[in-house]
Amino acid sequence: MSIIVRQVSKKFGSFQALEQINLEVKKGSLVALLGPSGSGKSTLLRAIAGLEKPDSGSIIINGRDTTNLDIRQRNIGFVFQHYALFKHLTVRQNIAFGLEIRKHGRKGIKDKVEELLGLIQLQGLGERYPAQLSGGQRQRVALARALAVQPEVLLLDEPFGALDAKVRKELRAWVRRLHDEVHLTSVFVTHDQEEAMEVADEIVVMNQGRIEQVGTADEIYDHPATPFVMSFVGDVN
Ligand code: ADP
Ligand code: MG
Repeated sequence: MSIIVRQVSKKFGSFQALEQINLEVKKGSLVALLGPSGSGKSTLLRAIAGLEKPDSGSIIINGRDTTNLDIRQRNIGFVFQHYALFKHLTVRQNIAFGLEIRKHGRKGIKDKVEELLGLIQLQGLGERYPAQLSGGQRQRVALARALAVQPEVLLLDEPFGALDAKVRKELRAWVRRLHDEVHLTSVFVTHDQEEAMEVADEIVVMNQGRIEQVGTADEIYDHPATPFVMSFVGDVN
């Protein structure tokens, strides 16, 4: 499943948050949107998700123009930093949250949740509440919850921002593993150059609502296309 963003613009009042964005995310690839705070990363991700309607342009997912479809019609999984787990629900209940009995039946839901617990290797912890988990375990559950609906596209918006460096590193490896195992097309938003370089196949550098450069970590690091990319990516180390 590929994602094509075509000429997408978005203003908030007179502020141009996205300006004529063109981007293609190939089926099966994991792309990072990298840029400083305020550069439009979340707005672009939300537009892809159907949570933000562009003023102009279109978003084609797997050949289908989804510009006017809402998030439920796009078959997308979403993990946000602030989209926390439900505190009053167990791990199992959190993962099952988006699954409808009507569609899956009770047995189907139970099996699906068990499979996802296995995928994130938290089999023994299904009856715990979020407060009884570590930060890293909680975000693994958030990943499982996003995957419960069997999305073809996974969107992550600074999902590990609040965690310490070691845990973030582990979670990046989890994202990479799940992306590969579940055969997803994924977009990962981060303002952290190292994170983008480590996790993604391709990096999209954003600045002031525009794309400055698209390339592999090596291409961007070795051949920055603009002074902005040079200074932003050059901050590593
Ligand atoms: P990033 O995720 O790269 O930090 P955002 O996409 O969240 O950037 O925001 C880009 C710019 O658009 C910011 O200046 C932000 O204040 C503004 N913005 C985002 N959402 C809204 C909104 N709903 N209303 C007004 N301004 C917004
Ligand atoms: Mg953001």
